[in-house]
Amino acid sequence: MSQHGHYRTWRTAGLLCLAALVAVGLWSVWHWQYTQAAQEAERHAQNRLALYSSSLRGALERFAYLPGLLAQQTLVQAALTDEVGILATQANGYLSLVAERSGAEAIFLMDAQGITIAASNHADDDSFLGHHYTFRPYFRDAMANGKGEFFAIGSTTGRPGYFVSAAVDNAASTRPQGVLALKISLESLQESWRQAGENVLLSDANGVVILSSRPEWRYRRLAELSSQALREIREQRQFMDEPLEPLGDRLRDGTLSIGHQGIGERYLDMPLELATLGWTMHYLVPVRPLYASARNALLAAAGGTLALLLLALWLRERQKRQRLRERESRIILEANERLEARVEERTRELQEAQAELVQAGKLAALGTMAAGIAHELNQPLSGIRTYAANGERLLSRDRTQAAEENFRRIQDLCERLGTLIRQLKLFARKGGAREPVNLTARLDFVLELLEERIQRQGVTLHVALPAHSSPDAIRVAGDEVRIEQLLTNLLRNALDALRGVETPCLEIVLEDETQRWVITVADNGPGIDEATLAQLFDPFYTTKAVGDGLGLGLFISYGIVQDLGGRITAGNREAGGAWFRVELPKAEGDPRHAR
Ligand code: ADP
Repeated sequence: MSQHGHYRTWRTAGLLCLAALVAVGLWSVWHWQYTQAAQEAERHAQNRLALYSSSLRGALERFAYLPGLLAQQTLVQAALTDEVGILATQANGYLSLVAERSGAEAIFLMDAQGITIAASNHADDDSFLGHHYTFRPYFRDAMANGKGEFFAIGSTTGRPGYFVSAAVDNAASTRPQGVLALKISLESLQESWRQAGENVLLSDANGVVILSSRPEWRYRRLAELSSQALREIREQRQFMDEPLEPLGDRLRDGTLSIGHQGIGERYLDMPLELATLGWTMHYLVPVRPLYASARNALLAAAGGTLALLLLALWLRERQKRQRLRERESRIILEANERLEARVEERTRELQEAQAELVQAGKLAALGTMAAGIAHELNQPLSGIRTYAANGERLLSRDRTQAAEENFRRIQDLCERLGTLIRQLKLFARKGGAREPVNLTARLDFVLELLEERIQRQGVTLHVALPAHSSPDAIRVAGDEVRIEQLLTNLLRNALDALRGVETPCLEIVLEDETQRWVITVADNGPGIDEATLAQLFDPFYTTKAVGDGLGLGLFISYGIVQDLGGRITAGNREAGGAWFRVELPKAEGDPRHAR
C-alpha cells in the first residue's frame, strides 16, 4: 500500500476511535445524569414516604386504644346482656358522643353473633344497627384473639375505612360477649396526598391499592392475586364488587407502566413497608422528567463536544494554513537563495570576464606601448646616428665647431631618451605605499620646482585652499612621489597650454568633499577639442610636436589616481581654457605620519 493509503487507513481508524469515544462519553454523561436524577428522586421519595407513613401511623394510632377502652365500659358490657334494649339505646347515644369527640367515622357494638346492637350512626339512614358482620375479619379476630383490624369498603355505607375492634368480655363467661368496632375514615389523608400533587399509594398485603393520591388508581391491584386471596376478598366482601383490575405493567427494569397499551406513563416504584396489616406505601416517581434531565445533559454534552470538535477543526485548519504559509515562505526563501546564488555566480562570471577583458586590454595596451616606445626610441636613435656620422665627418674635415654642435644635439637627444625612460620607470612603479600625504605641502613643492618656468612665461597663479581647514589637515592616502608626479603632469600640461597666451592665468583650487579632497587645475589656454577629450587619458596620445610630448603624462596620472582609489576628469571652461579635476580619498591614519 502506498504511503497515502496507509495515512488514509490510519485516519479512518482514528476517526472511528474518536466517534466511539464520543459515543461512549455521551452515553456515560446520559447514564450519569440519569442516575443522579434517579438518586435525587429516590432521596426525595424516601423523605416523602417517611412523612406520609408517619402521618398515616399517627392517624391509625390515635384510635388504637379506643375499642379496648370502650369494651371495658360497663354500659357497653351491660348493653350486650340487656334483654330489654334500654341500655342499647343508651349505648347508641354514648357511642355517637364518643365518635363525635374522637373523630371516628363510626363506633358500633356487635353481639356474639355479629349483629350490631348499638351504633354511633344509629340515627342515620345507613345505620349499622341490625346488620351483621360475621364475615368481617375484625369481628372474627376479635372474637378469637381479643382484637382485630381490617381495611374494607363499608358493606352498609359503601365508604371505605379502617376498622379496629376489641372483644367485649364478661367476667361470667370465658367467651367474649360481643365485639366493639371502630371505623376510621382515611379519606382526608388521601385528600391531603392528592392536594400535594404527588403520586402516593397504599397497598394492602395482597397488593391491592387501598388509598391513592389519584382516585382512578384505587382498588387496582399491583400484583397477581392468588385464587385463595381472591376467594378471601370475596368472602370478606373487602372491596365489595370492585373488579380489582391491574394498575399497570411491571416492566423488566422494575419500572411501573400505568396506562393503556403501552402509551402509559412509566414510574419508578419506591416502596416502604409498614407495620400495619402488611401494608406497603408506594411513592411513584415519573421516569419522563428523569429522562428529560438526562437528555438535556446529553444535549449539553453533545453541544459541548460539537463545539470542541469545531474548535479542533478550526485549529487544524488554522495550523494547515499556517503550515502552507510557512511552506510558501520557505519556497520563496529558497527561490531567493537560489536567485542570490545565481546572481553571485553570474557576478563571479562577470568578474572573471572582466578580468579577462582587463588582461586583454593590458595586452593591447602593452602592444600600443611597445609600438610607441619603439617609435619614440627610434626617432632620437636615428637622430643620434645621423649626428654622430655628421660629427665624425666634420671632425675629419677639422670643422670642430660644427662637430661640437652635433655632439650637443646628440646630448639633447640622449636627454630626451633619458626622460622617456624615467617616465616609463615611473609608470612601472605601481602600487606604492599608502600613507597620509599632505597635499598642500606637495603642491608647494611642485610649484617651487616650476617657479622658474611660471616666472618665465609670466603666468598669474591663483591658489585657493578650503576656508575651514588648516593646510596641515589636507591629507590624502598615497605616496609622495606619485602625488608629486600627478601634480607635475597637470601643471606642466597647463603651462604648455599657456604658451603664447596673452595674459596667462593658472588657477589651483583645493576643496573639501566629506570623504575626499578635490584639486582642480584650470588654465585660460586654448582648451581641449572634442577628439582629444575622448582619448585624453590614452597612452602615447599627444597633440604636441614631436619631441615636445610623449603622450604619457595623463595616462600615468590616470593610473596613479585609479591606484589611490580616486577619480580624474577633464573638461573645458566656459570662459575658455581647460580644467582637470582630481578627487582623492582623505587619509584616515594618524595625522602625525603626514609629511
Ligand atoms: P603630452 O603632454 O606629452 O602631450 P599628456 O598625456 O600629458 O601628454 O597630454 C595629452 C594631450 O592632452 C596633450 O597633448 C594635449 O593635447 C592635451 N592637454 C593636456 N593638458 C591640456 C591643457 N591644459 N590644455 C589643453 N590641452 C591639454
